[in-house]
Amino acid sequence: MKKRIVIALGGNALGNNLPEQMIAVKHTSKAIADLIEEGHEVVISHGNGPQVGMINEAMAEYGRSNKEHPTFTPLSVCVAMSQAYIGYDLQNALREELIGRGIPKSVATVITQVRVDSDDPKFLNPSKPIGHFMNEEELEYAKANGIQVMEDAGRGYRRVVASPMPKEIIEINTIRNLLESGEIVIACGGGGIPVTRIGNHLKGAAAVIDKDFASALLAKELNADYLIILTAVEKVAIAFRGPNEKWLDAISVEEARQYISEGHFAPGSMLPKVQAAVEFASSGENRTALITLLEKAKDGINGKTGTFIRKA
Ligand code: ADP
Ligand code: MG
Repeated sequence: MKKRIVIALGGNALGNNLPEQMIAVKHTSKAIADLIEEGHEVVISHGNGPQVGMINEAMAEYGRSNKEHPTFTPLSVCVAMSQAYIGYDLQNALREELIGRGIPKSVATVITQVRVDSDDPKFLNPSKPIGHFMNEEELEYAKANGIQVMEDAGRGYRRVVASPMPKEIIEINTIRNLLESGEIVIACGGGGIPVTRIGNHLKGAAAVIDKDFASALLAKELNADYLIILTAVEKVAIAFRGPNEKWLDAISVEEARQYISEGHFAPGSMLPKVQAAVEFASSGENRTALITLLEKAKDGINGKTGTFIRKA
């Protein structure tokens, strides 16, 4: 039966740099095309952690060596750039895969703005590290220029940015219209371009929204049947990497909330996925969240693997 599916792609779907990305998207497109081939309606979102950090640093470097160019490029603009070049690569690879399978569908990327609240408490407590680990010189430059940094798990300093919650997808009608006319849509890339509303003006915010939360909002707004979060593990575990590790097949939102409160999921990796899954699955009847491995998307939607999260 035809389902409406929002697919959230993780870092392993895109790789860490452009050469890796160009290879990864081919592989990723096969997993997505498998679902389209089964007759499902598909909307794709993706992360941008390494990419947005790279763009931000590249723009800063350019500014340092070209005096007429500002050393500062707003993070919202960096997210927009990441949506464009990831979308381009992905839509191109998916187009080719669909033609190869004889599926007459076109693919479009929607540059998507996502509204956040300017008084979101997460603006006061930046928590999302982006980009590379800084050397001493870079660290001094960052500190002298008011760029916030954080020590990341004993590995060194990285830039840290705020990650407010997504409240509204500005281009949602465009996305819905494309979907309903049979297009494959890539939207909310990198969690969406964060903006705040000032009257009729949308002002870019210095933040990077979590792609798992933005994908849950997208799935709710589109009244999707499934939110499928594709990542680097086949299932979610409790007591992850411990002696009592247990891989989960299907859980209710109540069980998921309980496991969250017991601290089974790592912040910044599995926690936002399970929270996003709960957010979507609890928001209506017949809304299923699935977390599984990129390569297992088709097996997952057919109930053969992955971790399912449902209202009851
Ligand atoms: P993505 O780029 O797809 O968002 P992340 O690296 O952010 O991927 O999150 C997925 C990772 O979360 C897995 O590869 C796994 O190592 C880690 N992880 C942390 N806690 C758990 C858990 N309880 N069960 C499964 N994986 C977990
Ligand atoms: Mg992640």
